[in-house]
Amino acid sequence: MARIADRERKRPYPAADTRRILTALKRQHPNADTELDYSTPFELLVATILSAQCTDERVNRVTPEVFRRYPDARAMARARPVDLEPLIMSTGFFRAKSRALTSMAAALVERHAGEVPPNIDALTGLPGVGRKTANVVLGHALGVPSLPVDRHVLRVANRIGIARAEDPGVVEQQLSTALRPKEWIVASDTLILHGRRICRPKPLCERCAVRTDCHFYLTGSVERAREESGAPRPLTRAVPKLTGRARTRR
Ligand code: SF4
Repeated sequence: MARIADRERKRPYPAADTRRILTALKRQHPNADTELDYSTPFELLVATILSAQCTDERVNRVTPEVFRRYPDARAMARARPVDLEPLIMSTGFFRAKSRALTSMAAALVERHAGEVPPNIDALTGLPGVGRKTANVVLGHALGVPSLPVDRHVLRVANRIGIARAEDPGVVEQQLSTALRPKEWIVASDTLILHGRRICRPKPLCERCAVRTDCHFYLTGSVERAREESGAPRPLTRAVPKLTGRARTRR
């Protein structure tokens, strides 16, 4: 049972509460997985780079032709950015992404014989590959325990209170400490889905499986966010007002 110690909780929930909350979220979003289409680690690396500031659905529309023309790092390393640009234009930032993809492929060939290395430091050393992208590829395509933290994970984890930090690296560390390595990638996928479907910037708390544990909900932050956005307040509130070290039951 989670405890709301005060209205401005600064520390994440204890590990046992974090695991229980993730279990409830996994029940709400069973079989959470990346929604990017891929068949090799290289393809997932390309798709994840393309997914920056773009929906997975849109990326999945362009990648079949990208993968057909450039099935591996050696093929893509021979391409020029202008060759890729028309293929990926609809994903946005296509010039920067084209340069990132060709540079990344060239570095893979030069440093790793064209193979995607199963190592966070080697991956983040590639042009255009940040820590979140590296963790997506490690966790999904290479079987290395990893916990990607994107904007959804950052928002949802902080709202609930299972993490307390603005820095994605710190949130990754807080969640990784609370969960077992084999749970990391599913936890990330689950939080991402929850952020896309329920805990959106304007959250749908009435549909949320963990609202009785959610710090954002219990402290009235949701209502303040609604007031600021001009949205109507709900007629009833499911959780009683908390005072002091109140305990909540589901
Ligand atoms: S209760 Fe609302 S704010 Fe909290 S996790 Fe659920 S949807 Fe997000």
